[in-house]
Amino acid sequence: MSESLPAVRHLLEPTGDDLRRWLLERSLPGFRYAQIRHWIFAGRAKSFDDMTDLPKSLREALAADFRLWTTRVAEHKHSDDGTEKLLVELADGQQIECVLLRDGARRTICISTQVGCAMGCVFCASGLNGVERNLTAGEIVEQMLLLDRLLPADERLSHIVVMGMGEPLANVDRLLPALAEATSPTGLGISARRITISTVGLPPAIDRLARENCRFNLAVSLHAPDDALRNELVRVNKSIGLGEILRSADRYFEASGRRLTFEYVLLGGLNDQVDHARRLTALLGGRSALVNLIPYNPVAGLPYRTPSAAAVNRFVEVLRAAGVNVQIRERKGDKIDAACGQLRRANLLSSNSTAGPAVHQVAPSGL
Ligand code: SF4
Repeated sequence: MSESLPAVRHLLEPTGDDLRRWLLERSLPGFRYAQIRHWIFAGRAKSFDDMTDLPKSLREALAADFRLWTTRVAEHKHSDDGTEKLLVELADGQQIECVLLRDGARRTICISTQVGCAMGCVFCASGLNGVERNLTAGEIVEQMLLLDRLLPADERLSHIVVMGMGEPLANVDRLLPALAEATSPTGLGISARRITISTVGLPPAIDRLARENCRFNLAVSLHAPDDALRNELVRVNKSIGLGEILRSADRYFEASGRRLTFEYVLLGGLNDQVDHARRLTALLGGRSALVNLIPYNPVAGLPYRTPSAAAVNRFVEVLRAAGVNVQIRERKGDKIDAACGQLRRANLLSSNSTAGPAVHQVAPSGL
């Protein structure tokens, strides 16, 4: 994986005191720092020129030394249900996706943490070509702000799910500073309790999160009730195993006191049978957890199909009869390829090859 990053001084990069130092070097008053941050996060400035209570000379100096945005929106799609999806082109030409979901009063965003993904979920578009690179913290923050600026003036983002392209815990060094900006009272001011990190299950990183910052909700994607099937569906599992993943999830639960969520994509005929549900129940072993079932949405080019309604109902019944807390995840934005990786892949394919588009199925519905 390449670690080369765009050679720009990104104002949204939460590197600590870059902007503060810059202001000090120019003997500018400290309150300018708070003013600039206010414009970035609460004021929704789209350019330095929008920061109208800064002297023009300061705005020009900032524009000369910093870039507020390093990305460009390559595509913006709207769905009838209020979902909006952005295909975002990074400074190095790579593309990622992020989504805004509207659900009642909730304004949830789903953000990406890597270009591509190395986890190898066979049904997912994001990982089909492996991982290209980690996103910078600034690029993660930038997605939040691009989506925030889609809202009208009287609405604010309420929830974040880190479920977009990439494995968040494979880029935890950049993710945590970005989420610090999301939770900061002078940033987006979103409660950590309203932020969910979704992982395929990387035990060392889950343990690190439990030690360093367990304020966030953790969602672990299982997709199979045993290692034999999970090794086929989530290839990284071969080197980890469900037992160790569940033990690390338990440690996170102990540290955080936050109820765990387990994600399970239902693939027609593959992992959606009554026997799978029984074995999943046994695997969870009475844990206090929520199971999110996500019926697969098939896409040309991949050999997986939607489970029947009857199969979904039977699966739910088995889990509920065993006392497992279950919800079926409503898919939002299907018409705009809201499942992660789909839009980017369709775009790549239309410019590069003849294969059909694929899909990442963990499209959030506002956890
Ligand atoms: S489903 Fe998530 S973890 Fe799996 S390959 Fe896709 S982006 Fe990576």
